[in-house]
Amino acid sequence: MRFSSDPSPRKAGTAELALLQQIRARAARPGSNALTLGIGDDCALLQLRRGEEAAVTTDLSIAGRHFRLDWHPPESIGHRTLARGLSDLAAMGARPVAAFLSLGLPAELTKSRGKTTPFSRQSTYSHLPWIDAFLGGLVALADTHRTTLAGGDLAESPLPVADIVLVGAVRRGRALLRSAARPGDLVYVTGSLGGAAAALQLLSDMAANPRPAPSNLKRLRIPGRIQAQLAPHLFPQPRIAQGLYLVRHGLGAAAIDLSDGLSTDLAHICEESDVSAEIDSSLLPIHPTATLEQALNGGEDYELLFTAKPSSRIPRSIAGVRITHIGRILRSGPNRPAITLLTPTGPQSLQASGWQHFS
Ligand SMILES: [Mg+2]
Repeated sequence: MRFSSDPSPRKAGTAELALLQQIRARAARPGSNALTLGIGDDCALLQLRRGEEAAVTTDLSIAGRHFRLDWHPPESIGHRTLARGLSDLAAMGARPVAAFLSLGLPAELTKSRGKTTPFSRQSTYSHLPWIDAFLGGLVALADTHRTTLAGGDLAESPLPVADIVLVGAVRRGRALLRSAARPGDLVYVTGSLGGAAAALQLLSDMAANPRPAPSNLKRLRIPGRIQAQLAPHLFPQPRIAQGLYLVRHGLGAAAIDLSDGLSTDLAHICEESDVSAEIDSSLLPIHPTATLEQALNGGEDYELLFTAKPSSRIPRSIAGVRITHIGRILRSGPNRPAITLLTPTGPQSLQASGWQHFS
């Protein structure tokens, strides 16, 4: 069941029809931003500006691995699905153009509630509460970054999955690459580190000791007072404005988004650029709720890690987000670890400790 084609009432069931209507109603209209033609035809048509090239990325989110239906509010799952793709665009210094969403959902999440007729106005909204909330989270973030939901696909699936494709645009030849770090460059990060891992730990602790006990409640209840503490995990903010700024001002050399954690993502830059790096633990902008270990190895902060020439004038903050110098790029050598961590007790080798999500 594609939502890129017009649903026919004769073919689609009431619930399917309501679902398609719901998605179309939530997606932006053709003509907005770079979208020439949106949902309703066999393809979307996109118009890039002169001198731009398309940046395309795809991210698959799977229940039990990237999110849990019993832990995450649907708004958060929608937000996180899109945030992963937007963060990849940010890492290249690209502006978002359009998003394409493919959803595989178990039947119980796509069933409408209450009585509806295929043509009743009510069938468009609030009868598919999970999908409505999921799309609410996704579209709110899309609106923030002027990204159009331009198409996608729907299927029934025993395991909930959400696949997002993001199309962005970047000035030809100016994209920030992992391979562009050079010895002598300084290393920077946006925002703070470890907040998402600390929040996930808190969520996991709450799930282990639910209060009140989950009698007939299917999903973990998140009290209002700790929602802000969980925000770095539930609603991470992709650094689109910061990536665009670096490209526009010719400041960034190499860049990557911190999806798997500083130790792992910096190792990707070192490998692709054939360099090593030195990080000073006393300079790290550790999130107030996080430990050093979470700042180094926790995943899903979706901050940007970038390098720049020492002569580049890097602002202290970009679009309201702090920028912190945390280390430097060194020549790689046979006796030198890829990443050295400077600590109060002396230098040590920093091993890439990859993010394992929920496994
Ligand atoms: Mg990435």
